[in-house]
Amino acid sequence: MEALLSKTFQNLSKNSIANKMAKKYGLRFGAKRFVAGSNLEQAVDCVRELNSNGMLAMLNYLGEFTNSKTSAAETTEDLLRTLDAIKDHQLNCYLSIKLTSIGLEIGEDVCSENLQRILDKSEATDTFVRLEMEDYSNCQKTLDIFKEMKTKYRNIGTVVQAYLYRTENDINDLNNYNANLRLVKGAYNESSEVAYPNKADVDKNYKNIITTHLLNGNYAGIATHDDDAIRHTIRVAERNEIPKNNFEFQMLHGIRPELQKQLRDEGYKVRVYLPFGNEWFGYFMRRLAERPENLTFVVKNTFKK
Ligand code: FAD
Repeated sequence: MEALLSKTFQNLSKNSIANKMAKKYGLRFGAKRFVAGSNLEQAVDCVRELNSNGMLAMLNYLGEFTNSKTSAAETTEDLLRTLDAIKDHQLNCYLSIKLTSIGLEIGEDVCSENLQRILDKSEATDTFVRLEMEDYSNCQKTLDIFKEMKTKYRNIGTVVQAYLYRTENDINDLNNYNANLRLVKGAYNESSEVAYPNKADVDKNYKNIITTHLLNGNYAGIATHDDDAIRHTIRVAERNEIPKNNFEFQMLHGIRPELQKQLRDEGYKVRVYLPFGNEWFGYFMRRLAERPENLTFVVKNTFKK
């Protein structure tokens, strides 16, 4: 039953009619639990609320699928507007972006040009920008672009994925750049040629890379909802006298909110990942596909505005 529901949500996430209807009618079906809003204003309100509750935020713009230079340029404009809004509203928030949304798959030159505009603005507004890690085919390109930009810009970081065999080496290489890294387990379906097929190995490697990166002394965003990995981080930090401001916990909006508050109350920095934008429906369906138990929220909220 769970597998069937998961498959249904995966299919719905790609259904063009459902996506069009979702754009027309705005956030529905309890999507607010996972998505900050269908536009920038709603996203700003959501960040404000988090900030007033002692949480940090990061905004991720869910734009149109980018298959042309024009749509990559449009997404870039949306991201520039988001940086302006973060500055204008004095939000404790940064920007998290997918390089494919600004043209990585069209050409590295297109992507670099758009990224430089974003990073110029990030310097001007003193706002951090994180390059997310996508599927394996874009991994090396993302790291190359990150390294090139890191020599010119301060406010930039990227992500590494524990499921990849290469990641321990990448972390040590990125240590030469004093990289601010988000550490994740990894979200894409990768082949066993490049990634650990067993979850237990991914969980083990996740803890290993957390230890390596923290001991390297670079800033870490520990992006997980996994109690075991979180307690491991705290243990490593305490044993090695790593101050609480050298790392932060990051979680998705709407996932384990009680744990987010608990960590905040223990004095840890907690940053919430807030996706927003027109393309909210696909993101929402993917969260349900990941965990069909979240369907309870949909049922409760179907008739609410
Ligand atoms: P899991 O072992 O999957 O889950 C641990 C526990 O967390 C579960 O037992 C459950 O209690 C809870 N949980 C997990 N997911 C859910 C859910 N959907 N609903 C309710 N409870 C849940 N991946 C990338 O590949 N690239 C990225 O750039 C990237 N950025 C991310 C940014 C943030 C802030 C976060 C939190 C994740 C990001 N991810 C990214 C996704 C990540 O790789 C994992 O796929 C995802 O976080 C699930 O793994 P987990 O660490 O939470 O552990």
